[in-house]
Amino acid sequence: MSRKGILMVLSGFSGAGKGTLVKGLLERYDNYALSVSATTRKPRAGEEDGKAYFFKTVEEFENMIEEDSFIEYAKYVDNYYGTPKEYVQKKLDEGKDVILEIEIQGALKVKKAYPDTLLLFVMPPSAALLRERLTGRGTESEDVIASRLARAVQEAEGIEEYDYLVINDDLDTCIRELHGIIQSEHCSVERN
Ligand code: 5GP
Repeated sequence: MSRKGILMVLSGFSGAGKGTLVKGLLERYDNYALSVSATTRKPRAGEEDGKAYFFKTVEEFENMIEEDSFIEYAKYVDNYYGTPKEYVQKKLDEGKDVILEIEIQGALKVKKAYPDTLLLFVMPPSAALLRERLTGRGTESEDVIASRLARAVQEAEGIEEYDYLVINDDLDTCIRELHGIIQSEHCSVERN
């Protein structure tokens, strides 16, 4: 029997360590594929087009919206972010578990369109640590950090929509917890 891929969303406060968790899952296990989003945000140092994101102008992004190329898209702190349909569908058809690393508005839209989507939320151990991780990144101005922290507080209000909440206290433990959740979902009677 061929295994059906699970579509999952990994959300969490900016600075919660989502990127590192996803990297860990992809490195350790071969059942995952990461969807690469399109964005109008400017690349951060070291971010390559087509790897971190597909970097688009506002006009290009709006054309993609017109062409119905996205599963979902949202505006987050003045930039557009969207999940391209084609790649996600291809990987699910191949039996891969596809990870979308997107924020909450987008997550809820995906869940509406695809009710089987698994919603996972990552929390940093404390708000102080969240600020430290954002500041420590060294790529964002104070204004942007303040907007991201404010947005984090808003996002907390949608957490009840998520299926699982994991705390990223220890990276290794958190990666194993996430993988365990997904493996269990594959055995879920409701899904099969
Ligand atoms: P960043 O600018 O830090 O890379 O991302 C900002 C926020 O946008 C993060 O919460 C990230 O998960 C979210 N994001 C990234 N790609 C997408 C996407 O395709 N759709 C939506 N809705 N959010 C996204």
